[in-house]
Amino acid sequence: MLSYRHAFHAGNHADVLKHVVLVQILRHLARKDTPFWVIDTHAGAGLYALNSEPAVRLAEYREGIGRLWQMQKRPAAVAEYVAEVRAANPDGRLRVYPGSPWLAWRALRAKDRLRLFELHGTDSALLVSHLREAGRQVSITASDGFSGMQALLPPPPRRGLVLIDPAYERREEYGRVVQTLREGLKRFATGIYAIWYPRLARVESQRLPQRLKAAAGGRPWLHASLTVCAPREDGFGLSGSGMFVVNPPWTLRAPLAEALPWLAKVLGQDATATYGLEETSS
Ligand code: SAM
Repeated sequence: MLSYRHAFHAGNHADVLKHVVLVQILRHLARKDTPFWVIDTHAGAGLYALNSEPAVRLAEYREGIGRLWQMQKRPAAVAEYVAEVRAANPDGRLRVYPGSPWLAWRALRAKDRLRLFELHGTDSALLVSHLREAGRQVSITASDGFSGMQALLPPPPRRGLVLIDPAYERREEYGRVVQTLREGLKRFATGIYAIWYPRLARVESQRLPQRLKAAAGGRPWLHASLTVCAPREDGFGLSGSGMFVVNPPWTLRAPLAEALPWLAKVLGQDATATYGLEETSS
């Protein structure tokens, strides 16, 4: 039984980090003429109305995309991400937040493919309706993305991104992420794998980056993280998150090195706000 609904969290600081990194990877893939595939193992609903009951209830987007929306000067990677969110809000008012499937769909050329998995019945139906104009280059499967993705590897053009973005509702998901990365790399060693994770007090979350580094098995990786506040004493709320990228594009590090200190300042909620950026040789 799945209880997590991304609509409660869409556009929060963790989505900002995830989608800033995602937009940079997509831009890199689209620079070359060669086709690419994007596989999104945990797709969510694709688009989120920010005036819907779940979004209004927690209003997390106000401390995320909401803080960036009106700013005039932003680092290039943040500006490129905000431009994508603006494309979903053509009248200039922030009403809708685009999720990873929508961002990936916008990056596709005719020769590229997008493969989406979303297990939750309500969200997979919403995803179908939000991407109804997408046509046959996008497929949506309402099943388990961890195993579904393996069957697609390697993608025919041998070029692409696997985004792994679970809800981490259950402890065993941490282990599944590590196992999925290991198995994915056996089938598609040169693929880009981007794994989002929450930074929580629980030991599984704290150990995850180390386990992912080991699972990368000597392949290059880049690890970006953003902490916006100290963990709350009641254990609720998300104080930070990370994106772990295996086989990162060479174009990724420099824009993140510029964007992360700025994001920590602008999205920070207390004096403990900080960021991290490490890569293979560090
Ligand atoms: N990737 C989305 C984005 O950036 O816009 C957000 C995804 S949200 C964090 C995680 C999603 O995974 C939820 O919508 C949840 O229903 C879905 N989910 C949970 N377990 C799954 C599984 N085993 N396979 C596919 N989807 C799953």
